[in-house]
Amino acid sequence: MTTTEYPDTDVLHDRLLIGGDWVTGSSATTHEHIYPANGRPNATITLAGPDEVDQAVRSAREAQREWVALPVGRRRDIMVDLADAVHDHVDQLGRLSVHDFAVPMRTAPGHAMLAEGFIRYYAGHVDKAHGQVSEVSGKHDLNIIDREPYGVVGIIAPWNGPMVVVGLNVAPALAAGNAVILKPSELSPFSALRFGEICLEAGLPPGLVNVLPAGPDGGQSLVSHRGIGKIHFTGGGATARKVIVAAAANLTPVATELGGKSANIIFADADLDQAAILSAWQGPLGQSGQSCACGSRILVQEDVFDEFLQRFLTVISAAKIGDPFDPDVMVGPVVSEPAMNRILGVIDDAVESRHGTLTTGGARIGGDLGDGYYIEPTVFTDVDARSPLATEEIFGPVVSVTRFRDEDDAIAIANDTEYGLNTYVQTMNLPRAHRVARALQSGSVWINRNSDISPQGPYGGYKKSGNGRSGGIEGLHEFQQIKNTRIGL
Ligand code: NAD
Repeated sequence: MTTTEYPDTDVLHDRLLIGGDWVTGSSATTHEHIYPANGRPNATITLAGPDEVDQAVRSAREAQREWVALPVGRRRDIMVDLADAVHDHVDQLGRLSVHDFAVPMRTAPGHAMLAEGFIRYYAGHVDKAHGQVSEVSGKHDLNIIDREPYGVVGIIAPWNGPMVVVGLNVAPALAAGNAVILKPSELSPFSALRFGEICLEAGLPPGLVNVLPAGPDGGQSLVSHRGIGKIHFTGGGATARKVIVAAAANLTPVATELGGKSANIIFADADLDQAAILSAWQGPLGQSGQSCACGSRILVQEDVFDEFLQRFLTVISAAKIGDPFDPDVMVGPVVSEPAMNRILGVIDDAVESRHGTLTTGGARIGGDLGDGYYIEPTVFTDVDARSPLATEEIFGPVVSVTRFRDEDDAIAIANDTEYGLNTYVQTMNLPRAHRVARALQSGSVWINRNSDISPQGPYGGYKKSGNGRSGGIEGLHEFQQIKNTRIGL
């Protein structure tokens, strides 16, 4: 398949969506987007600068007033219409996610389905919102506690899941009564831009959802704009520090959803076949390991270590790697040439420094795939617990498999990290499952299953994995500020 034969090239939007219009703008720059599976240009896209951010904030402010002035039943209906519209475009948004960052088409529509589910869930909150009333000092005061929107919120998405961020964060922001400036990464602009257009088609006021792809400079313009009520940032810790510093100039609050170095604990009593499949797909195979939820530290009880490893490697070797638009392909490339070189550098450094034993993979894939940014699924064993391999998020198809003795040992290794986003536990022993879950320093614990983020489950990190929560009433509260009104009676 050549690039021109790929589907939906007619909806690879290359301009900014501000106030319902496609714009370029005076301070905008451009970026050549590359399709990671063949290294060829996809489109030259516009990146927002300070003027476009300012224009978007003004337009969003106006649209937000219009949005909150609507009766709640109408706002709920519009959000239901938006969920329906996303439903009707699940495959197209999936294909655009493939263009964005080469996630395989087998799973890409799942991102849009997740967005639809969250929009529908939060639509249900719009007309059921209520505050509290309580007595305070005696019977002569009425004490009212309300939740109100921030106004215009800036939502910054990582390249590995713009449609996921649409669900996790844009949906509750709108349901809470805010207008949104969504900033996807320059590496993955297309699904987010098309989503912005679908918002207009579904009847959202123009300017309520503005989509401004931008790089670090445009991102800084957004977070330091005085008109932004709150920033919701999803990405890496190093960027989060810059975002928090820039937002601090205006004391703008920032919610963060950051990276992970998740442990995946396999006890000897686990179903080892299921454990092998789950560990492979939640590890180096799923999205080529480029997921905040990647279970990159696989911990296996020593009694079953060899047996597990053999089954795990069998699952990995059977996965079909190739062009993500091919419906049979299960594993695609990594997102960019710099990302590929960085990941290969981590692998080479680990081998040279003897930080672990390279058990499979470790190299760029050549042949027919040689023009793309493909890396073999890579597994290390006997990993030095203090090495970068064991402590740093690699964000690629690289995992370690480590032995542990008993429950206490497993918990200690799992918690020995700066991160705390996800932990996976595989065991058939129910009391153990609960005991271990309680002891883990982790925002989410997934027992005998993959990480399936759902609208009802608040998702977010402990420690350096961030402070925000997405999903559930907690996800809605991220986009509301609290007002207390006292009335003397
Ligand atoms: P990143 O930190 O490089 O970029 C994130 C976003 O910030 C992008 O839109 C980027 O353009 C923007 N940005 C970059 N510099 C900026 C600046 N100075 N000011 C404002 N914005 C700026 O992260 P990434 O490589 O896009 O994504 C990968 C990271 O995201 C990983 O660490 C991953 O674990 C994390 N992630 C977390 C979750 C979660 O829910 N916790 C979900 C997905 C990804």
